[in-house]
Amino acid sequence: MLTDTHCHLTDDYCSGDKLDEVIARARDNGVARLICATSDANDMIPAIKIAEKYDNIFVTTGIHPEYAGMNPHEYLTDTVLNHPRVVGIGEIGLDYHERDDNRTAQIKLFEEQLEIARGANLPVAIHTRDADNDTAAILTGVRGVMHCFTSGWELAKIMLDRGFYFSASGILTFKNAGEIRETFAKIPTDRIVVETDSPFCAPVPYRGKTCEPFMVRETARVLSEIKNLQMDELETILEQNTLNLYPKIAQ
Ligand SMILES: [Zn+2]
Repeated sequence: MLTDTHCHLTDDYCSGDKLDEVIARARDNGVARLICATSDANDMIPAIKIAEKYDNIFVTTGIHPEYAGMNPHEYLTDTVLNHPRVVGIGEIGLDYHERDDNRTAQIKLFEEQLEIARGANLPVAIHTRDADNDTAAILTGVRGVMHCFTSGWELAKIMLDRGFYFSASGILTFKNAGEIRETFAKIPTDRIVVETDSPFCAPVPYRGKTCEPFMVRETARVLSEIKNLQMDELETILEQNTLNLYPKIAQ
């Protein structure tokens, strides 16, 4: 079985009855566990409600840099952090690709959420885009995962030394993603997890379609080729990595 370690289940593609179908399609494809990430603070409670309804869904809660300026303490309350289905803080981080004129506010939001994660002893799921230097400088004293990792080996090396995991998304399957495949070839297999980031970045052969958790199998397939492992061997390793990254799942 596989875990989609990062998908957004509060988006429109999962509204109403569609969520049941998305979860059933994932199960039918051996994707038996889903970790729903939040980016917007207002998604946190809906995400937790979904996890309460389905026993194979867990949540990471956090505020994406897109919402810099918000006060995370208003949302990441003790009730949220102590919820048995909330297994990490994310997605949080820095995005200088989307916006470069509010770095100070992005850094403030990021640092505040890292402090919350340290206090709650929860792992973090990190979004970083065109911000490798600041991300590396700030991201200390916590454990977690570089979500949808597309940065180069330089940042990978730094974060490997700090004990981080690296999540491969559908981008790993893209024809023009040779450099990312090379980076994942160098990352030890026991530090890798897989995700879809649904509804974004559908892997080959689903490019252009709405991405869904079941598609994580395509990313795992490409990873098994890169690592020269049988799928069942890789799935066993990925399962152990997922539980090591998010120990609250097994509690
Ligand atoms: Zn995401």
